[in-house]
Amino acid sequence: MSKSPLQVAVVGSGPAALMAADVISSAGLNVTVFERRPTAGRKLLIAGSSGLNVTFELPLEDFPSRYSGDPNFWKPIFSSFSPNDWLEFIHRLGLKTFKGTSHRYFVEDMKAARLLTLWTEKLSRQNVQWLFDKRCSHFQKSPTGELGLSFDDGTHFTFQAIVFALGGASWEPTHDPVQWPRMFLRKKIGFTPFTASNCGFSIQFKPEFLKEAEGQPLKNVTLTSSKGSQLGDLVVTSYGLEGTPVYAVGAEETVFLDLKPDLSEKDILKKLNRTTENLNPIRRIKKFLKLSPAALALIYHHTSQEDLKDLTQLVQRLKKFPLKFEQRQGLEWAISSAGGIKLEELDSQMALKKFPGVFLAGEMLDWDTVTGGFLIQACVSQGFCAGQGVISYLSNLRQQPKSDSSNQRRNSRTKK
Ligand SMILES: Cc1cc2nc3c(=O)[nH]c(=O)nc-3n(C[C@H](O)[C@H](O)[C@H](O)COP(=O)(O)OP(=O)(O)OC[C@H]3O[C@@H](n4cnc5c(N)ncnc54)[C@H](O)[C@@H]3O)c2cc1C
Repeated sequence: MSKSPLQVAVVGSGPAALMAADVISSAGLNVTVFERRPTAGRKLLIAGSSGLNVTFELPLEDFPSRYSGDPNFWKPIFSSFSPNDWLEFIHRLGLKTFKGTSHRYFVEDMKAARLLTLWTEKLSRQNVQWLFDKRCSHFQKSPTGELGLSFDDGTHFTFQAIVFALGGASWEPTHDPVQWPRMFLRKKIGFTPFTASNCGFSIQFKPEFLKEAEGQPLKNVTLTSSKGSQLGDLVVTSYGLEGTPVYAVGAEETVFLDLKPDLSEKDILKKLNRTTENLNPIRRIKKFLKLSPAALALIYHHTSQEDLKDLTQLVQRLKKFPLKFEQRQGLEWAISSAGGIKLEELDSQMALKKFPGVFLAGEMLDWDTVTGGFLIQACVSQGFCAGQGVISYLSNLRQQPKSDSSNQRRNSRTKK
């Protein structure tokens, strides 16, 4: 197929950018990807280091409710590129996926490296050009409608359309924080400052507990705070706790853990009192409740000696174990960030209303969600929509000169 001369820049190389580049290059348009780092998809690779969770099993119509903002913003995005479309896309790349018991979908090997390699190879076959170590610092529209991009190394390029997919502000090295918001602030484009989202909380755990439990999971527990309750697994870290329930309902307050959510207090007591063996309360719990070692260590090291001797007190405590969540972890350790370019700056095709031809997608936009595959799903669905937006924008542009010239012909005929 002969290539159209139309030129598109995609800035960034995360999942949102790759999906936009894929859609646009599949349509036969020339795409150049600019990335500030020496390689593509750094954060996607990091995401894969803890098990790459690509989407979630949920009816399509329920997806918008999992995100901040107006559901009407999200509906067309997920209708255009649904979780099923994304799973099929991954399968067509040659990867298998599986669904975990938590309804999350993972790539089979849990890592992102293979996904990234297969995807970037596909894009190269679609003639996508890659320019690395290119930090974009400025964009502008010329009076003739061309879009200019400037880079920190002093280079400039012009394009007919641009997709920015510059990501959020989490997990960035403190010596090299994101700088792209400046480009948009200068142009008075609405921006909400970044805050940490999906992050752990610090807790003053006793050293003897940490010695036994650091790095260990607290499996199948319910966390309750003023924000609600969430069942799931937690991980004990040197500073506190991480894990989906913390991300979903964590708050800087005293929260409560139910360490045995499948049994009521009454049923636990019945179970523990069944034996005639002469065991102290903590030994009974250890023997009959099948708690994880970290849960036992938590009860043992963070309960008064007095309560440790009282079975009823101890059971009450393991059903409603108080923990003081001191402080939310900072952006540099958060899985994602809330904040970014305000959604009202975009039109229905993901283009900036103030700069037609400039499209945005992914975590750089002001939306938030919980972990569970919802982050990457939103990024690829938005990347898809931005890609389609570029195609229809350029097709309108192509038609424009024709009608201009036919107008000229009409005008010149009239003059004669
Ligand atoms: C530890 C961890 C685990 C995670 N696990 C999961 C998970 O299992 N499932 C899930 O759904 N999500 C997960 N995420 C979140 C997910 O990785 C992100 O939401 C996703 O990568 C965002 O995609 P994006 O394309 O918007 O941006 P990014 O992937 O952040 O990509 C943006 C790109 O733009 C580049 N860039 C920025 N500024 C410039 C500039 N000025 N010029 C040129 N290039 C620039 C960046 O270098 C970067 O490569 C995880 C995140 C972390 C940190």
